[in-house]
Amino acid sequence: MATQATQQRTGAEEVRWDLSDLYAGIDDPQIERDIAQTTERADAFAATYRGRVLSLSAEELYRAIAEFEAIVEAANRLGVFAHLLWTTDAANARYGALLQRLTEWEAQLQQKLVFFELEWVNAPDDFAQAMLAHPALAHYRHWLEVTRRYQPHRLSEAEEKILAEKSVTGRSAWARFFSELMGNTRYPFDGEELTQAAILARLYDPDRSVRQRAAQAFTDVLRQQLPTLTYIFNTLAADKASDDRLRKFPSWISSRNLDNQVSDAVVEALIEAVTARYDIVARYYRLKRSLLGLDRLYDYDRYAPLPAAEGHYRWEQARDMVLEAYGKFHPQMAEIAGQFFARSWIDAPPYPGKRSGAYSASTVPSVHPYVFMNFTGSARDVMTLAHELGHGVHQYLSREQGMLQQHTPLTTAEMASTFGEMLVFSDFMARESDPAVRLAMLAHKIEDTFATVFRQISMNRFEHAMHTARRTEGELSSERLSEFWMQTQQAMFGDSVELTENYAIWWSYVPHFLQVPGYVYAYAFGELLVLALFARYRQEGDSFAPRYLQVLRAGGSDWPEAILAPLGVDLTAPDFWQEGLREIESLVAQAEALVAQGQG
Ligand SMILES: [Zn+2]
Repeated sequence: MATQATQQRTGAEEVRWDLSDLYAGIDDPQIERDIAQTTERADAFAATYRGRVLSLSAEELYRAIAEFEAIVEAANRLGVFAHLLWTTDAANARYGALLQRLTEWEAQLQQKLVFFELEWVNAPDDFAQAMLAHPALAHYRHWLEVTRRYQPHRLSEAEEKILAEKSVTGRSAWARFFSELMGNTRYPFDGEELTQAAILARLYDPDRSVRQRAAQAFTDVLRQQLPTLTYIFNTLAADKASDDRLRKFPSWISSRNLDNQVSDAVVEALIEAVTARYDIVARYYRLKRSLLGLDRLYDYDRYAPLPAAEGHYRWEQARDMVLEAYGKFHPQMAEIAGQFFARSWIDAPPYPGKRSGAYSASTVPSVHPYVFMNFTGSARDVMTLAHELGHGVHQYLSREQGMLQQHTPLTTAEMASTFGEMLVFSDFMARESDPAVRLAMLAHKIEDTFATVFRQISMNRFEHAMHTARRTEGELSSERLSEFWMQTQQAMFGDSVELTENYAIWWSYVPHFLQVPGYVYAYAFGELLVLALFARYRQEGDSFAPRYLQVLRAGGSDWPEAILAPLGVDLTAPDFWQEGLREIESLVAQAEALVAQGQG
């Protein structure tokens, strides 16, 4: 008997990608030829340049980088093909074997090439300055700058070697211990032993008693492990403090900002702007409380689903919604996105063996991106399609920067995808007349935006308090960490959500704090940037679009601040971040108006 899922066809069932622009298939003899040829090229490169980078003229250095780039591109073409293939059928042993073989091969290749970047990073200042200023190297200037930016924070080669070796049993070991501990922990619930993901999923249950009991069960187990978790947090915070001191980073967040290619001042302006608008969060949760018909909203009620009207979309409808919204912005956006459909660059339907989720793979500049979906026809899937095609258009346009300068840092990596979503979302809202569907779409959008903006910044405030205190007060107790957590979280919710005593220890399971300290603000950065750009687009109209496409075309060829400058964006101005925050406020106001209409 057919299940309901198979009965409800989406029209995406036969929409599969054609990877032959990369390789004809897993048996394509070109794969072996490319592996052999690229290995030879890497050997020749090392033989020519190892130990010689400092003796090159600017023109010779240019040729060396171009050859380096070509080798990296050839290796990527192989690796990305194997990866794309494998995600369509992870159980296929031949796909798995090819992926594993190429991963190991690429690691070896990297070993052969690593000298090149190291010699540049360690080059004396006068040599580096001369090269950076030389017109012959103008094309690669940013790559040269970015590769060298860690130089002031590097220690001697011998010290680096010791640190790298000891980190395996230091920082990395503690981070892995945390992962394994959390991965192996089970949470008893209704006679079952649930994983962390499964117990946390119960917080989305429409039944309040389920949410409340799940929060209790989760807390009970965390509390048993609290001494261990506190010790891990302290150890890794202390480890980071000594790293930052040895490498002369002025604050706990500076090294992360360097990774993200933004200055400390820009990040401070962002944080100040967001924390000043926590009132928007409280305003929304007051609305949500009344929509759920509750007297009080507790921490375990935050994710309760609203009574929502869910639409269903066929593949062709989803395609038209995205292409029309893109086309209204600029015909070139629709033209590029249209190629993904017309030329089979999308793998759309879910099927057995296929990995879950969605992504857009840039592949290599000489080919084009491919988009991977698991389209089931929900409104969320339409937004995911808009998101991935936003990445796709960005990746397509930035190909002209070449392999080394195509990609943007984390802070702007989600710009085009989120902007693509905004285009489709606002077009959808403009067309949809059913207030229930509009409210459901708005609530999704608001909660997604809160998760990326306010929640991440409040978590950044917790990290800030923890790292600062660890450096001045020494070892921190669980109670002290819980105090930081409650202060920073309550500041965001105001009086709209009542945080229970249980919630006080929920800092202790967040892996980002330990694995990538300082990471969380990047989400808020990207989202607010897009909302501000979108506000500008609405004010300016059509003249905005060509300049936006120019920004996409620039890829990662310069610092984000410089790339965004043509759009009139000054990231250091606190006022800039206000623009995005006002957009979120207006979403909440729209939701309030819809509710008032419904009740009136
Ligand atoms: Zn994305």
